[in-house]
Amino acid sequence: MIAIVHHPDYVTEAPARSTYRWGKNGAIRDLLRAEGERIAWHEPEPMPQRWLEAAHDPDYVAQVLAAQVPPLKERRIGFPVTPLVARRAQMVPGGTYLAALLAIEHGFAANTAGGSHHALADTGAGYCVFNDLAVAALRLVEEGTTARVLIVDVDVHQGDGTAALTAGHPQIATYSIHAEKNFPARKAQSTLDVPLADAVGDDAYLAVLEETLAPMIADWQPSLILYQGGVDPFAGDRLGRLALSEEGLVRRDRLVARLAIAGGVPLACTVGGGYGDDVMAIAARHVRVISTLGEAFAGTVRADRS
Ligand SMILES: [Zn+2]
Repeated sequence: MIAIVHHPDYVTEAPARSTYRWGKNGAIRDLLRAEGERIAWHEPEPMPQRWLEAAHDPDYVAQVLAAQVPPLKERRIGFPVTPLVARRAQMVPGGTYLAALLAIEHGFAANTAGGSHHALADTGAGYCVFNDLAVAALRLVEEGTTARVLIVDVDVHQGDGTAALTAGHPQIATYSIHAEKNFPARKAQSTLDVPLADAVGDDAYLAVLEETLAPMIADWQPSLILYQGGVDPFAGDRLGRLALSEEGLVRRDRLVARLAIAGGVPLACTVGGGYGDDVMAIAARHVRVISTLGEAFAGTVRADRS
């Protein structure tokens, strides 16, 4: 069984003037539903305002929750923050937080949304409203649920917001492997950044990922990994600059699972970037991330019990 966190509020109609494709989360849900009894479904609660404020400026949180975000910030986000979008923005971090709790219990869990790694303290950006990764990580360590959270971000874009919102926190570390020339133009400083040249393919990517992530997990010894499993390093992605194949993405996720399992670290996965006209193909890539990780962790549970 793979523990999946989903909420109907994730699937909203596209607001007018949106440049973001909104069909993805519903397609991910439908593909996972087709997996039948392999999936255990869980529904999150909205993230309480005070925990949103642990990562974001209270003024910005209030603007979003009231659906009164100034137009300049909405332009940075890429879509208007309507009441439905605001509801979704509050629910998704609740989902990432619940996925983390389930991962701690079962070894692995996934949220069918999230990975909103560009959201900053006082504004959203790059299709991200609230930073579910930073909010969940801050809540988990400040509540004392877990001791040390490592946020592993393999989206093709740097996890700038996550790095900025968790910088200096002794119980949170950030790792970002990304295309150096891609958005955002101004990078933040993660605990470890691994910038890649354009058009890096499977073998080179996997070698660098293992060389950098394996020692980080071994040295830093996280008690939980939050995984931003963006699929935009895919060669055909509209906003990517790397050249991973479908098989390369699967190998990437198997490698991350192997490193986490070797370190005895539970892993909670969020979605992330994935852009193009074929929404079903992109959703299928996201579901493949979840099933690849889920199968890897299921293998460890069976081994432990035998
Ligand atoms: Zn991205």
